[in-house]
Formats: sequence, C-alpha cells, structure tokens
Amino acid sequence: MVLFPPASSPSPPPPSLSLCVLLFLFLLLLIINSRPSHSRLLHNFIRIMDRVMTGEGMDEKGWRRLARINQQLQPKGIPSLLSPSQLESMPTLGVGLPALDIASAFPQATPASTFPTSVSDYFGLEDLLSPEDVALRKRVRRVMEEHVAPVVTKYWEKAEFPFEIIPHLASLKIAGGTIKGYGCPGLSILSHALVGAEIARVDASCCTFALVHSSLCMSTIGMLGNEEQKQKYLPSLARFDTIGCWALTEPAYGSDASSLNTTAVKVEGGWLLNGQKRWIGNATFADIVVVFARNTQTNQINGFIVKKGTPGYRATKIENKIGLRIVQNGDIIMKDVFIPDEDRLTGINSFQDTNKVLAVSRIMVAWLPIGVCMGVYDICYRYLQERKQFGAPLAALQINQEKLVRMLGNIQAMFLLGWKLCKMYESGKMTPGQASLCKAWNTLRARETVALGRELLGGNGILSDFLVAKAFCDIEPIYTYEGTYDINTLVTGREITGIASIKPSASGKIKGFTASQK
Ligand SMILES: Cc1cc2nc3c(=O)[nH]c(=O)nc-3n(C[C@H](O)[C@H](O)[C@H](O)COP(=O)(O)OP(=O)(O)OC[C@H]3O[C@@H](n4cnc5c(N)ncnc54)[C@H](O)[C@@H]3O)c2cc1C
Repeated sequence: MVLFPPASSPSPPPPSLSLCVLLFLFLLLLIINSRPSHSRLLHNFIRIMDRVMTGEGMDEKGWRRLARINQQLQPKGIPSLLSPSQLESMPTLGVGLPALDIASAFPQATPASTFPTSVSDYFGLEDLLSPEDVALRKRVRRVMEEHVAPVVTKYWEKAEFPFEIIPHLASLKIAGGTIKGYGCPGLSILSHALVGAEIARVDASCCTFALVHSSLCMSTIGMLGNEEQKQKYLPSLARFDTIGCWALTEPAYGSDASSLNTTAVKVEGGWLLNGQKRWIGNATFADIVVVFARNTQTNQINGFIVKKGTPGYRATKIENKIGLRIVQNGDIIMKDVFIPDEDRLTGINSFQDTNKVLAVSRIMVAWLPIGVCMGVYDICYRYLQERKQFGAPLAALQINQEKLVRMLGNIQAMFLLGWKLCKMYESGKMTPGQASLCKAWNTLRARETVALGRELLGGNGILSDFLVAKAFCDIEPIYTYEGTYDINTLVTGREITGIASIKPSASGKIKGFTASQK
C-alpha cells in the first residue's frame, strides 16, 4: 500500500485564471459585507432597543453598541435615534462614563455646594457693626448658603443665569439698597455693602447681577429720576418683579466712557436713540435699561429709560467669558429707538451726573472682592483640615499656613478699608479718589488672595466645584469693571497730586512709537 506519493511525483498545476477571479469576488463580497448597510444597522438598533422594551434591561456594553450604531447611522443622513437626554446619560463612544459626582470622586474634602462656616473675622471686626447689620448679614448668609451654594456651580459652568434664585434674593428685601420709600429698604451704605459682600462670598456673579440691578439701575432712577419715574419703576424693581440694567460702555469707549457717541435726537414727543453698547450686565433679559446717550443739541450726556421690546432695540449675549459666567453681559444695538419724553431721566444733564451714581456704586464694588475673598478663605480653611498628605492635614504644613495667614491678613485690611470708606461716605467726607483707591486696592489684594487659594487646593484649585477656581476667574472682570485698576489708581493719583494723567497728550505721539504699534 502506498501511503505517500513518491518524492519524485510532479507538483500541482498553478491555479487557473478563473480561480483567481473567484477568489477576488469572494474577498470583495467580504469587504462589502463588513460595512453594514443602513437597513442592517437599523435592524440591529431595533433588536437592542427591544431588550430595553421587554424589560431585559441594558448593560453598559449594550448602551455602547447602541451609541455606536446611532453614530454610524448619522453620516447616512439618518437623524439621531436617541434623544439628547439619552445621549447625555449614556456612556458615549470613546468618552467613557459620565463624570463621577465630585463627592464620590474626591471624598477627602467637602465641595462648595455644602458651604463652609465663616471663619475669616480674625480681628473680630464684626464689633464694628450694629446689631441690625449683624442680623441682616446672617440672614443673607443663610439664604446664600442654603439656596444658592448648592446650585450655582452648574449655572456658572453652563454660563446660564439661575432664575431660580431670584425669589430667594427677593425674600431678603434688599433691592434698592439705600433708597428710601418706593418699596426699597433704605439701608445705610455699610449695610448695603455688607449684603453685597455676603452674596459675593458664595458667588460673585450673583452679586454683580444684584449690583447692576440695584446699585446702578435703581440708584440712577432713585438719584436722578423725577417723582413719576420713581413711582413708576422702583417698586417692581425692588420686588425683583422687573429686572434692570445700566448701559454706559460702548465698543469704542470703555475707560473713556465720557466720550461715548450713542446719540439722542430730540423729536416730537420724545427722543430717537441710535448707537451701540457693550458689556451690559443683565442686558439679555432685563425689563428696563438705563441708557446713556449724547444729546445732539447740547452735546452733553443724557439718560433714558428703555423698555424691553421697544422697536429698534436689540440685545445679544456676549459668549465665551472666563469669569462671572453667570452674568448675562450683552451687546446692545439701537436703531431709531423712540423714547417718550416721560422716560428721559431729568436729573442727567452731563457726565458729571453719571459720576454721582458711579461714586456710590464704586463703594459697593469695593466690597465685592472682600466677600469673594471671605468665601475663598473659608473653603481653603476647611479643605486644609480635611485633606491629608504625608500623614498630616495640609493645614499642618508650614508653607500652607503662610499662604493662609497672608490671605487672612488681606481680608482684615480690605474689610477695614471698606468699613472706613462707608463711614466717610455716611459723614459726607468721602472723596472720589478715596472710593477709587479702595476699589483698586481691594481688587489687587483679592487677585493675590484667590491665587493663593488656588495654590492651596492643588488640583482641586482648578475645579469650580471647590469655589476657588470660580472665584479666581471671577476676580478678573471685577478688577476691570467700574473703572479698571489703572483708571481708579489714576483718579486717586490726580486727587493727591493735583495733576491729571489719564488723558495722553493731545497728539498722542511719543517719540519712537509708530502708528502701527498703537
Ligand atoms: C464682566 C463685565 C461687566 C460689565 N458690566 C457693565 C455694565 O453693566 N454696564 C456698563 O456700562 N459697562 C459694563 N462693563 C464695562 C466695563 O466698565 C469696562 O470693561 C471697563 O470700563 C474697561 O473698559 P474696556 O474694557 O473697554 O477697556 P479699555 O478702556 O480698552 O482698557 C484697556 C486697558 O488699557 C488701560 N487704560 C485705558 N485707558 C487708560 C489710561 N488713560 N491710562 C492708563 N491705562 C489705561 C486699562 O486700564 C486696561 O488695562 C462691564 C465689563 C465687564 C468685563
């Protein structure tokens, strides 16, 4: 029996051409089949969804397959078969599972949604306050900690305004601040400033919202409006039933706001406003806007109350801010906006009148960084006790203690300066230079304080969940608005030296500085 062919037997003939063609066609079929048709994808999608419908449930792998099929269908012109909320709640391809809740991701330290106890009054400066002020401060603190702190971070991240907090702010009856009557609380400037700081301690955007509404819009009507205007507008603003904003800055005139070129032309029965405003807080949803415009007859600045929805008026949101993300800053465009005579603010006849409002609101803005730093200090203090490294709480490390103490020192000094500024205002002795110095210096110290806080929290110092990163970003626009650090410094410089240095020489030309460098 021959089991093996003899070694000398001839080798098989080479594959014929028809065999090669067959092999090629087979491979082609394989490739085509490996790219699923959309009917096959749909079939698979329905099969997997069936498992959910019949109550079999769905594991992570199933959701992943569903997401993959959904993604493959879209280039074929089929809209997403999954709703946005399904897509959001499911683990998406390549992105992994939704983020862990911060409390389970980092159990060693409490996030700012549970706000820390206030511990920054090292020198017992509360002794400088009246019992009424202490009680008011506590009331605001409680509302902010209980109702705002738990929700505010998510709004900050989404850059959306938290309308849900307005009833809580309204319950405090603080809008209108120092205005007496018309449903306003008639607070002292110090009480109003303390309220602002308490709001800012939890969230600087909420404080900015309230300041624009109360210290700019309402104060302008309260200080420079006539009796009918006060009766008409202040009560609903005081209840937060209507919201106000204040439009001075223009794209071409920021620090140089007194040169603004929005125009107000007198026509029969009223005025026509034309121009553009920028950076206006609350602009996208405010019911009324105080607009500053140049009277073309007198060439002076006048003020007008513009109502939402007036034909020719349009406000759009400024996107992509890195700080005060909750504040809805807007660009406003006005084309032949008709304002009836009754809505011209009769007390504003030049930029000097605008300055009267700014002088008071600058006190409030000077207190905002105090509040921000108090919150940052409180959270850092708690964090350093809770978080351990090298077998000890972070608070036990010398360098961390130095940073904490520097922050605390800043807060004591800022508070004392703010308190003294209010006392000077109340006695009628405060000068514009003093208000400017307080605003400028407090924001400078605040920048240092929040930066130290950011360092103390390590990686968590860049997460808004622990407040400090949010405050770190929020201080930047506060350093800039209501007069930048530089402009406020130069206002004080002018007052102490008697030499104005804000405006460059008329020609603006400096030797060796070419036009292209401007
Ligand atoms: C978050 C936010 C909210 C705001 N809300 C409002 C609002 O509700 N209503 C409103 O009307 N405006 C609002 N503003 C506008 C704000 O008041 C201006 O941004 C501010 O006055 C600075 O103007 P500017 O941004 O045009 O900067 P610029 O004036 O262009 O200044 C740019 C830089 O030049 C410096 N500079 C300018 N002039 C001088 C000078 N003479 N000497 C030395 N340095 C100078 C400044 O200090 C700054 O560093 C807001 C701004 C921000 C960022």
